[in-house]
Amino acid sequence: MIEIKDLTKSYGENIAVDNINFTVEKGEILGFLGPNGAGKSTTMNIITGYIPSTEGSVKVAGYDILEQPSEVKKRIGYLPEQPPLYMDMTVKDYLHFVYEIKKVSQNRKTHISDVMEMVEIGDVQKRLIKNLSKGYKQRVGLAQALLGNPEVLILDEPTVGLDPKQIIEIRNVIKDLGKDHTIILSSHILPEVNAICGRVIIINNGKIAAIDTPENLSKTLTNESKLVVRVAGEESHVIKALKDLTGIKYVEAQGQKEPDSIDYIIEAEANIDIRKPLFYAMSKHGYPILMLKSLDLTLEDIFLQLTMEEEAM
Ligand code: ADP
Ligand code: MG
Repeated sequence: MIEIKDLTKSYGENIAVDNINFTVEKGEILGFLGPNGAGKSTTMNIITGYIPSTEGSVKVAGYDILEQPSEVKKRIGYLPEQPPLYMDMTVKDYLHFVYEIKKVSQNRKTHISDVMEMVEIGDVQKRLIKNLSKGYKQRVGLAQALLGNPEVLILDEPTVGLDPKQIIEIRNVIKDLGKDHTIILSSHILPEVNAICGRVIIINNGKIAAIDTPENLSKTLTNESKLVVRVAGEESHVIKALKDLTGIKYVEAQGQKEPDSIDYIIEAEANIDIRKPLFYAMSKHGYPILMLKSLDLTLEDIFLQLTMEEEAM
């Protein structure tokens, strides 16, 4: 459905996108994961035809973005980082306006009301956009992308700036849209792409660091050697008991996260599963374990791990 070949974009000396290659199959939800400045928006702006690439090609449904831009553009709905909303219009007037400029061919009334239903903004259609919450503004942004019923949706950080409840709502809307759209979505939050996407591209400094399913990525990128354990008991005594464990490499107190307990990050020597000895030792000393889990990977951990793997190869 989407074919990106040898894509490069430079701004003078600065290479924003550095020779990127990937394809997206019809019906996929692909996540673009990377820190700020990684090149996510630049890549999306090129795919949607907003800016030209320095080198390389983009094809959507077989059409080249440079040779047949209008064929590509009518197949793509784009929600940019800053949605192009007109604050002084009502939701409904704005959607009618976008309908016009996109030259949408579907029946005007039914199509606009269908789209409003998809993103659940029917109730606010008569309100001025400037008076909507950030979550609803984002839905209106999604609605404008959906007008004309494009097969492909490109969504640039669609949950940025939303509160946790709005994030979950927008994610559910996107998952629903994924049933009959091909979607590329960018994010700098790992759990987010894991929750929504079937496949993830990790991009850093304009380069692809990894492409895989969220499951495989978390398998390759485990932090299983580091655990967080929450223990009730006097801190110095617990630390001593932890440091006495056979095979323990590292113990660090993290402070109190729950009354009468302290969280510790512990790390065992390679290939040692410390969990059972940990349980027996804490039990022997009478220090109840209130929680035990693997340390969550941050985006920084992931890049570190990916670059270390490259060096090892
Ligand atoms: P992301 O969306 O992943 O945060 P961007 O694609 O916005 O990253 O930016 C990638 C890099 O390109 C950054 O270093 C950014 O400063 C640079 N960049 C983006 N747009 C421009 C521009 N119009 N002029 C110069 N540099 C730019
Ligand atoms: Mg961006």
